[in-house]
Amino acid sequence: MRWWRHRAATDAVWLLGVALASTALAVRFDAFDHFAAFIAEHEDWELDELFTGLFCTGCCGFVYAIRRVTDMVRECRARERAQEDALWLSLHDPLTRLPNRAGLEEHLKLPSPIVGGVMHIDLDGFRAVNDLHGSAAGDALLTEAAQRLREIFPNAWIGRPGGDEFVILLQDISLPVLQQQAGRVIRNLSRPVRLQGRRVEVGASIGIAAVPQHGATLREALQCAEAALLAARQEERNGLCVYQTEMREKQTARARLEQSLREAVQAEVIRPHYQPQIDLETGHVIGFEALARWWQEDGTRVSPEVFIIAAERTGLIHRLTDQLLQRACRDAMRWPPTVRLAFNLSAMQLGDPRLAQRVFRAIEAAGLPPERLEVEITESALVREADVAQATITALRERGIRVALDDFGTGYASLSQLVMFSFDVIKIDRSFIRNCLEDDRQMKIVKSILGLGQGLGIEITAEGVEKTGQADLLRSLGCHIGQGYLFGAAMPAEETERLFGQDGQKAAVA
Ligand code: C2E
Ligand code: CA
Ligand code: CA
Repeated sequence: MRWWRHRAATDAVWLLGVALASTALAVRFDAFDHFAAFIAEHEDWELDELFTGLFCTGCCGFVYAIRRVTDMVRECRARERAQEDALWLSLHDPLTRLPNRAGLEEHLKLPSPIVGGVMHIDLDGFRAVNDLHGSAAGDALLTEAAQRLREIFPNAWIGRPGGDEFVILLQDISLPVLQQQAGRVIRNLSRPVRLQGRRVEVGASIGIAAVPQHGATLREALQCAEAALLAARQEERNGLCVYQTEMREKQTARARLEQSLREAVQAEVIRPHYQPQIDLETGHVIGFEALARWWQEDGTRVSPEVFIIAAERTGLIHRLTDQLLQRACRDAMRWPPTVRLAFNLSAMQLGDPRLAQRVFRAIEAAGLPPERLEVEITESALVREADVAQATITALRERGIRVALDDFGTGYASLSQLVMFSFDVIKIDRSFIRNCLEDDRQMKIVKSILGLGQGLGIEITAEGVEKTGQADLLRSLGCHIGQGYLFGAAMPAEETERLFGQDGQKAAVA
């Protein structure tokens, strides 16, 4: 009960008590008769008029008090409602009206069932719908997904902890039934949705875990389901994984890596190393590709293939790239003025509309002429972020920065991209060079990529050149530039200067 109600009630009881007691005393001692006699005795004091006035004022005061009390009650009710609304909003997602992450936390504080199950669901392809059809379509899709889940599980606890993720907590369900139900969820969520007159299809990946098999409480099972979802996401689409112990270990290792990456970016310990790129005709170094290198404090080296993905996942990629690019531009300023710097941009960054500005800022800060910078972009990035990527590539090229298509031949939309985007350089992926001497088919692929480049007037760089025979073959086929262990692996900035003669001439390698 509210404090004011409590006080109003005690006041009323007390006052009523006082009123009853005074009335009883007045009756017992004939107070009114004495009072009337007193008034009659002192007629000239005008006490009757005075008391009539007091009586009227008292009645009006009574009405006034009742009206103010009703006002107060109304105001208090409105305040209570507002507080309830605020509490609801803090625990729910207003879009789907499902509990949010805080709501989930609250629910997990309740006693856990002895037998139960958790499904952690992630929509596949949600981001594409958001990007292609707009966030209103994304919202409609989430609402529809929530509705379908409610239809499948009218009695279960369903929440949306964030983004395109849903959590379902079920009581008294065995693991096989849980698995069966998860299959049903995937089938249901993969059914097409009509959004603004268009048919849209998404999928769902699900991680599941059970109480008591995987955790003693729903909270523990939820952590297991999260780890299982990570594994399920690695499958193409509509993946379903039941928790296994190794998954949790993987998840912990991943969280540890992300934390130490955060610290490494903070301390700026990830540095670019430089791998020479060689003019195959003259043997001169014409440029260097910057490759990020990270040694952790305990001396273990983490591959860029691992930490770049972790940086993308955690959003650290923008800061890390700024650091690397700024440092690489400064290092490049110490090379002879014709030597170029090649720099890798990650797939995710191509979705950043401010990317071109960030690159311009880095070269301006170092004073590097734009013609000396070449950015390398992989095919997958172009497929994922076609519109923004096109705008970025155009902006970079207009400024005079060269753009290279990296790992050519490993993606699936290569040819259409060559038509859609303009590139200055194609880098043939090292997997084609590896066996090009022994494998006739590989050799033919290399030859046709070179022909394609010559036809389109695009320069070709061959990656992963490890043998003299490969370099000779590439040279005879008209390939301009080679890069690989034959000419040198990536080296720290101090060592690159060794490759140039004292007079600043380009050195011949191999
Ligand atoms: P990539 O751009 O294809 O880089 C070439 C990779 O091939 C490098 O691996 C390099 O060390 C390796 N390599 C060079 N020559 C040879 C050779 O002769 N034989 C073989 N087998 N391999 C050779 P690394 O440094 O481990 O980098 C792996 C990938 O990580 C890179 O592939 C690139 O996609 C990414 N990466 C590296 N640094 C950065 C960076 O600063 N930013 C971004 N976004 N990605 C980076
Ligand atoms: Ca590259
Ligand atoms: Ca490459």
